[in-house]
Amino acid sequence: MSAPVTAPPGGPEPALETENLVKVYGSGASRFDALKGITLQIAAGESVAVVGKSGSGKSTLMHLLALLDQPTSGVVAMDGQPVSQLKPAEVAQLRNERFGFVFQQFFLNPAQTVLENVVLPLKIAGVPRRERTERGMQMLERLDLADKAGNRAMDLSGGQKQRVCIARALVNKPTVLFADEPTGNLDSATSRTVEDILFGLHREEGITLVVVTHDDDLAARCQRRLVMQDGMIVEETRA
Ligand code: ADP
Ligand code: MG
Repeated sequence: MSAPVTAPPGGPEPALETENLVKVYGSGASRFDALKGITLQIAAGESVAVVGKSGSGKSTLMHLLALLDQPTSGVVAMDGQPVSQLKPAEVAQLRNERFGFVFQQFFLNPAQTVLENVVLPLKIAGVPRRERTERGMQMLERLDLADKAGNRAMDLSGGQKQRVCIARALVNKPTVLFADEPTGNLDSATSRTVEDILFGLHREEGITLVVVTHDDDLAARCQRRLVMQDGMIVEETRA
């Protein structure tokens, strides 16, 4: 069992909590226990890095926290409410309205324009076209990509693609941004720019950051680091 990992007493309410989170993939001979009982709290406005070797369960944990997958057992709670009590449509709405995602593999639609990629979450949320365009362009300006709005996503560099992903992740004004190896495919100078954008948002807008990373520099910039090993949190350090 992992030790409970908690936010400091008297700090802000936890935005996200888990209790004894277990994830098992497969069954029988191919059964794999990816998470072995994770209890943690993430305060609103906190920046948390999840670190550890490949295969230790970081992405699995992030997917469960981000409501992209369901645990085998245990609880994920958002603003104090267990998510399992919500209907699937409510979970989808919560995810779309409150969360932003940035992944290593970009997941852009290569044939669509930069702007079309960025406004996708707004489209899902039913925001009218005119407002989508307005908000999408604001976000692109902020990430210094306005001049690329009409380009196809496939025609961008890696660093530009990751900035498009960040713009898409932020266009719905999420309260929590999940990033899984956000700089994993970028050179070090571009990584630095992407990091500066993420931590700027964290500082200036109080966005909660949950970052899975192999990158020690990126982890060091977070207020808290959770070290995973074999499906458990084995260590926690604070800045
Ligand atoms: P990390 O992100 O730390 O590299 P993951 O959470 O991706 O680790 O994976 C943890 C373990 O669970 C790995 O051994 C991986 O092979 C296994 N795993 C991940 N996803 C699946 C899946 N969909 N089916 C079976 N095994 C999986
Ligand atoms: Mg991973």
